[in-house]
Amino acid sequence: MKIKRPRQQDTHKINRRIALGKLLTGSAFIALPLPVRILAATETMQLDMDDIESMRNNWRQLQRDNLELPAPGDSFSRTEEQWQELFSDERYAILREADTEEAFSSPLNEEERAGLYLCAGCKLPLFTSAMKYESGTGWPSFFTTIPGVFETRQDFSLILPRTEYHCVRCGSHQGHLFDDGPEPTSDRWCNNGLALVFEPAGIEETASF
Ligand SMILES: [Zn+2]
Repeated sequence: MKIKRPRQQDTHKINRRIALGKLLTGSAFIALPLPVRILAATETMQLDMDDIESMRNNWRQLQRDNLELPAPGDSFSRTEEQWQELFSDERYAILREADTEEAFSSPLNEEERAGLYLCAGCKLPLFTSAMKYESGTGWPSFFTTIPGVFETRQDFSLILPRTEYHCVRCGSHQGHLFDDGPEPTSDRWCNNGLALVFEPAGIEETASF
C-alpha cells in the first residue's frame, strides 16, 4: 500500500537540476543506459515518500566502481593524537568539538555532480547527491540520509535546544537537524562542508550539468 503525505503548495517542490531522484526511483528511466538517464533534461519534480525510501535504499547506485567504503558497524579506532595529526585545526574543531564553519565557506555548497558525501572522519557514506538541495542557508543541506549512519543528541549550546547529529561509526560531529526542509520529509540536515568528503560517481563526464 502506498502511503503518501498530503502535498502542499508548489513552493514546497524540490527543484533539482537533474532527475537523479527520479533515476533512483527507477520509475522513469528504467530501460535506458546510465549516461542517457543522466543526460535527462532539467525538470522540476516533486518527490513522495516512496521516492525517498527508494533513494535511501538504493544509495549505492551513486557509488563509483571500485570505491571501497566502510559500513556503519565496521570497527573504528583512532587516538586523540592521531585525530589532531590527521586534520587541520578547523576541521578538527568541527569533527571533534562540534564547531560550526562559517556560512557560505564550503565549496560543497555549489557541488552538483552525482556522487556520495562521506564522513570526513572515517569515510562512512552519509548522503547522496540526490538527497542534496539548495536551502539558501550557506551550508550543504540534505532532506534525507543514507539509512543508519547517524546518532543524534540534544544540543543546548544556544538558547533554543537543537538536534545535533554525528557519524555513528567514528562519532564525528556533522551538523544539526531542523524540521523546515522541503516536503515530503520536511527534514533539513544542515551539514558542515568540512565534515564531508565528496566522492563523484564517476559518470559526470557524460552529464549535461
Ligand atoms: Zn565517521
